[in-house]
Amino acid sequence: MTLPHIAIDGPVASGKSTVAMLVARRLNLLYVDTGAMYRAVALAALHDGVELQDGDALAALAQHHRIDLEPLADARGYAVRLDGEDVTARLFGGAVTAAVSTVAAQPQVRRLLVQRQREIAAQRAVVMAGRDIGSVVLPDAPFKIFLTASVEERVRRRLAELRAAGRAIDAATLREDVERRDRADTERADSPLLPAPGALVLDSSTLQASDVAARIVSWVTSSTAAES
Ligand code: C5P
Repeated sequence: MTLPHIAIDGPVASGKSTVAMLVARRLNLLYVDTGAMYRAVALAALHDGVELQDGDALAALAQHHRIDLEPLADARGYAVRLDGEDVTARLFGGAVTAAVSTVAAQPQVRRLLVQRQREIAAQRAVVMAGRDIGSVVLPDAPFKIFLTASVEERVRRRLAELRAAGRAIDAATLREDVERRDRADTERADSPLLPAPGALVLDSSTLQASDVAARIVSWVTSSTAAES
């Protein structure tokens, strides 16, 4: 039986994590933010002093450390545990954000995490958010969404988020960071960011996350109703 997985991909700050969390709550599915898994490997690499381009060493590190995503009813929707310790707050700081795209470009790391993501999805229906979910991780998912937004809007959103969290950063530096990660994610050789074949491409520049989530929920519920 094919589980009614929902794959949501998109660039930095396209709103995919918030949208995925809202959809998962509405449909009572498990929300899996795969970006957090790559971030946890980057955090472990920085902590253990592993070279960010050494794919073999990073894969060994990811195998050695235990990474768990724990569903929570808070605004983010989950906590990440690294060897049992809650590291969620440290995953979204500047150091991990600067390191993560280099770590995620290493094929050995991707192989390992993709396998874990598929294992999670084999157990139950998920809303999985990332860069390669519809194209690589769950190519048979019946619902694939590619969420975009203009770079100006994405920078504006991320700036508001960081300021609300008390982090001082200027708009120009943030825009450079967003564009650097966009480039790294779309130009890498292994699983570059791109809409999966058959994905519904949604531009959220002028939409609230709740509106995007509502559109996806109605797509899923109407398709499921039509089938039964
Ligand atoms: O989604 P988020 O911005 O937290 O992801 C952090 C980084 O992890 C991305 O910039 C990307 O380099 C990497 N990533 C990935 N594939 C995924 C999810 C995230 O390469 N499925």
